[in-house]
Amino acid sequence: MKRVFLSPPHMGGNELKYIKEVFDSNYIAPVGKFLDRFENSIKDYTKAKNVLAVCSGTAAIHLAFRVCGVKEGDKVLASTFTFIGSVAPILYQKAIPIFIDSDESWNIDPNLVEDAIKKEKPKALILTHLYGQSAKIEEISYLCKKYGVVLIEDAAESLGAKYKEKYTGTFGDFGIYSFNGNKIITTSGGGALVAKSKKDIDRAKKLSTQAREDAIWYEHSEYGYNYRLSNVLAAIGVGQMEVLDERIKKKREIFGWYRKFLNDLDVEFMPEIKNSFGNRWLTTLIFNGLDPFKIIQKLSQKNIESRPLWKPMHMQPLFKDAKVYDRGVSKNLFEKGICLPSGTALNKEDVKRVANTIKEEIV
Ligand SMILES: *Cc1c(COP(=O)(O)O)cnc(C)c1O
Repeated sequence: MKRVFLSPPHMGGNELKYIKEVFDSNYIAPVGKFLDRFENSIKDYTKAKNVLAVCSGTAAIHLAFRVCGVKEGDKVLASTFTFIGSVAPILYQKAIPIFIDSDESWNIDPNLVEDAIKKEKPKALILTHLYGQSAKIEEISYLCKKYGVVLIEDAAESLGAKYKEKYTGTFGDFGIYSFNGNKIITTSGGGALVAKSKKDIDRAKKLSTQAREDAIWYEHSEYGYNYRLSNVLAAIGVGQMEVLDERIKKKREIFGWYRKFLNDLDVEFMPEIKNSFGNRWLTTLIFNGLDPFKIIQKLSQKNIESRPLWKPMHMQPLFKDAKVYDRGVSKNLFEKGICLPSGTALNKEDVKRVANTIKEEIV
């Protein structure tokens, strides 16, 4: 039986052709027209006003913190139910992470956000739209505006997901996308920063290219990073953006198959909140009264890759001293949940095989 992966890359077909164009032009580096084309394709798709292509989603978050002025000792609120890349840049800035639990949506709880904003007076909030499903972004966005907190949306997993027809990543002062290997589309590695203000994206661009000042020689009055995306990888990105809609359609179809095949079990799938449209990057669910880690092991023995849900940040040894606004929701999800293989090249029979394997293990 061939191995079923969690969410492997899935090329659309034009990527190699575009890479060849890059080679033919010899604009392998430092920049080139595919960087512009990739940024424009993200703009066209998401309707974001300002986009910068960078080497990873984590780098994009770091740039957002630098641009909005998160510095040593500042408090930054963050979704606790997320991936480490979302919050590691808080540490890069020597700022103080304060974690916020999820609610029934699995994403951040707006009530806890409001409590935390009032008590902590944070500089910024980094909010994750988990597994491709929109968080309660309208409420959060309202709170951030009301209390003057910079809102950064971590839409690494949710490119193409919408809330009331507006794309995730475009509500906040900043948003970020990831094109890492397992994301809904990939450049093998890459990311994008989105900003409301052109000034902010210009500053991010400068910081992403070693903060060189405008002079003939290399003049530096502050430090930056080497975070820009390569033109070769941008060419892959242009090809991938062409198939994003197809990928979302397929991810949602896979989710539908799992729901159908597993509907006789005592399980709950990650919800899609009212007025939202998720990209269903990964099909995720919780089992009531079953040990998910055993199921993961059993699937692995049958050559099927699955994974636990993200282990909440406030449960990580790295953050054992961090403050958390917690109601035990994300901990419970972690202890019960799994991510099922959701690669867009899977067909209905593959999904059935996964579902049947789970059922065999349960009976
Ligand atoms: C993948 C991911 C990131 C980081 O993106 P990279 O491109 O891998 O640096 C950040 N946050 C979340 C929620 C992610 O899933």
